[in-house]
Amino acid sequence: MSVKSFNPPVRTLMGPGPSDVHPRILEALSRPTIGHLDPEFIRLMDELKELLQYAFQTKNALTMPVSAPGSAGMETCFVNLVEPGDKVIVCQNGVFGGRMKENVERCGGVAVLVEDTWGEAIDIGKLEEALKAHPDAKIIAMVQAETSTGAQSDVAALVTLAHAHDCLTIVDAVTSLGGTPLKVDEWGIDAIYSGSQKCLSCTPGLSPVSFNERAQEKILTRKTRVQSWFLDLTLVMGYWGSGTRRAYHHTAPINALYSLHESLLMLQEEGLENAWARHHKNHLALRAGLEAMGLKFIVKEGERLPQLNAVTIPAGVDEAVVRGRLLGEYNLEIGAGLGALAGKVWRIGLMGHSSRAENILLCIGALEAVLSDMGADITSGVALSAMQKALG
Ligand SMILES: *Cc1c(COP(=O)(O)O)cnc(C)c1O
Repeated sequence: MSVKSFNPPVRTLMGPGPSDVHPRILEALSRPTIGHLDPEFIRLMDELKELLQYAFQTKNALTMPVSAPGSAGMETCFVNLVEPGDKVIVCQNGVFGGRMKENVERCGGVAVLVEDTWGEAIDIGKLEEALKAHPDAKIIAMVQAETSTGAQSDVAALVTLAHAHDCLTIVDAVTSLGGTPLKVDEWGIDAIYSGSQKCLSCTPGLSPVSFNERAQEKILTRKTRVQSWFLDLTLVMGYWGSGTRRAYHHTAPINALYSLHESLLMLQEEGLENAWARHHKNHLALRAGLEAMGLKFIVKEGERLPQLNAVTIPAGVDEAVVRGRLLGEYNLEIGAGLGALAGKVWRIGLMGHSSRAENILLCIGALEAVLSDMGADITSGVALSAMQKALG
């Protein structure tokens, strides 16, 4: 076997993540590695915390990136906040709610599942019924942006309801952070996690998290030890906490943190509101093109995520062949359906740096070309002008 250096093809990433990484962020990754206790690195850590606080719109002191992907951020929230016997209500309207339930159970907690139809937002009325039926519930977990379906839930209202029943809240913001309005302090979210590779357009493998004082109080008054040594926040804080000695806990992924710093800096330069507006505008343009072709959104208007567009597949079309041709002929990646929606939808991501006019043009053009060539029942010749009109 002759192994050579790995040189990946240059793709356009319009799936459910990772998204296109800006050259500035890739360049940051390749800067010289320094020690994880180097004073210059500590300075970077302090700046990272501030940049994350801005992205999350929070003043929470316990805000930092977990050294592992979004799933580890999820696990960090559950292992630290759920003690054996704790009842946790999990709102599930897609794949990721199911993972939350797994987490609760693996922590020894009792999970109560409140299920909604896939492709719909979480129903606040159903959560209220569950809260009344389970007055001993301690935590409510929810996904703001269900990447598996493209539905967005009203986290502000759900958190308000949870607090009225004296419950803490855990919010999955992996796909929402940077792409759609999210205000941790204003909405009162107690614990939240995200990921680096979706709307932050950073390299994959990091998970920003944030915990408010109520959540910290729950962690500090635990009766049992957190079963995960690596994710135990009381230990991690010895490294990330300001004013501490910055004791060694694990070797931080130094270069990956350079790239997160750069991506958050770019978000700050653009401005959060502007980033949200850009995602929204580009979603409308993609939508105009897809609908002109005859494809339909599975999520109803008003609950759609701008950064994740789940659309139906024309009848008789082998959806995997289409995705294969887009990748092979146009270097374009779009996502397949996940879980209950496998084979039924495409998931087209417009996340972070991928949310650009040229990407929409490529996606609409390539999709129309391939579908027409396969003899699919679509309307040809109108999508690009519909898209252009929406872009203004
Ligand atoms: C991608 C995603 C995750 C998991 O993140 P990884 O970085 O793949 O571990 C969790 N929740 C949601 C909503 C996601 O979209």
